[in-house]
Parts: sequence; structure tokens; C-alpha cells
Amino acid sequence: MNDDPEPIENISGGDEGGGIADSFDPGGAETRAEEVVDRLGELYWQKTYGGQDAFTCLVRTVLSQNTSDVASQPAHDDLMKRYAGDDLAEALADAEHAQLAETIRSAGLYNQKADVLTEAGEHVLAEYGSTEAFDRFVTEGDSNDVRQALLDMNGVGPKTADCVLLFSGGQAGVFPVDTHVHRIYRRLGIAPADADHEDVRGVLERAVPATKCGFGHTASIQFGREYCSARKPACLDGPEACPMSDVCDQVGVDVESSEVVDPADAD
Ligand code: SF4
Repeated sequence: MNDDPEPIENISGGDEGGGIADSFDPGGAETRAEEVVDRLGELYWQKTYGGQDAFTCLVRTVLSQNTSDVASQPAHDDLMKRYAGDDLAEALADAEHAQLAETIRSAGLYNQKADVLTEAGEHVLAEYGSTEAFDRFVTEGDSNDVRQALLDMNGVGPKTADCVLLFSGGQAGVFPVDTHVHRIYRRLGIAPADADHEDVRGVLERAVPATKCGFGHTASIQFGREYCSARKPACLDGPEACPMSDVCDQVGVDVESSEVVDPADAD
């Protein structure tokens, strides 16, 4: 395993985002998806997630929607500086829209995200009474009930709900699917080329052991940035440029012509 720490500009928040260093044996994978995750464990950190405060995690994930962690991390830090106090949900429910939007400007879509955060604060207060009670519900509740409760919140989709379940609830077996995960596992040929996010999540949660799913999520994002990027996958420079070449179907990647299309549009 590589000793590099998980980057701070990451959906999990890196070392400061909770989770604990873990180790798993990269040998003996039973599926191709597990083999990929095991190789990621040799490239990157190995970690088990959980332990973040759920509402803070929800805020972080909403800020990260449709943008990079590099852009959303400062927005998260500024928001916490201004609004974290006795009760974050209450502070966001009471926040003045223009001030909140300005605080999170660097995350993009800041007017829309400010509305989502304020509504989330109001929802948490109305349904659970306090941020602390909501945090307890996410950590201790049945994962299906928690997932459904999160999805019932305005602006919370499956990826956000799954990230909250993973990073705060520490739910093993949750493999959130973001744009990188969605692209990579269809290119690899592990998920069908036309699979949507939920289909890919189902494939991965069946094929990857529960204890490796959280790591698989964060490490796949890193792999998507460093190797299997949307427009210029590393294998365009030859098979030796990507550590997954021998287990990848390269769906949508034409090395000869350097043409790259979404797997769903591949011939
Ligand atoms: S071989 Fe190419 S398409 Fe496959 S994982 Fe590597 S970079 Fe991505």
C-alpha cells in the first residue's frame, strides 16, 4: 500500500473528515470489480469511513454537487467559520440568503445551493428538533430508513444520500456513484455501457465486499482524476500508462484514433 494520505480536497475531507486508516489484503479478489478496488488499494491510501457529523457531511456533499472538491472545500470552510456554532441546522435555517450565498460562492450554483442548505436546516429542525438529533438518527437508524429520509429532502439525490450514509453512518456496503465512478466502471466493462448511476451502484455493491466499498468510492474518484479522466484517459498513451489496462475493456475509448466517447455511445 502507498503511504500517501488521502487528499484533504476530497469528498471525504481527507484526514480531517474522519474515517480511520485500514488495511486489506489486495490478493484473492473474487470479481473483476474487487480486483480493480484492490489495485486502487495498492496505488492509494486504504481507509474505512464513518464518524463525520451527519448534517455537516450533508452540507459538504451539497456544496460538492456539480463542482470539484478544490472549489467546494473553501466554500465549506468559510461556511463552517461563519455558521458553525451551537446548532448548524438552526444557523442555516435562519441564515440570510444573500449572505449565505456569498459565503459559498466558490462552490458555484451558490444561490441554488444556499436555498437547499436553508431548506435542509429547516427540515432537520422540523423533523428531528436539532442537528444533534438528526446526526444520531443517521448514525443509529436503519440504513434503508435513513437513505429514504435523506432522499425525501429537497436537493438530495442518491449520491448525496449515499455519501452521508458512508461518511457519517459508516455504513459498509455503500458505494456512492458520482460522475467518475459512473464513467470508470462502464469503461472497464464491469457495468453495462448504458447503466445509469443507480445501476452502476447496484453492480458495484454486489461485486465488491462491503468493507471495501467506501474506499472503492473515494479511491475511484482519485483514479478518475489521475488516470481515467473524461476526455483523456491515460491508456491513450499506451497500455503501460494505466495500471488497469489488463482488466479494462476500454468501452468508448479508441486508442488508435484517440477518440473518446461516453460508453453509452460506443459502437
Ligand atoms: S485502460 Fe483506459 S479506459 Fe481503462 S481504466 Fe485505464 S485509462 Fe480508463
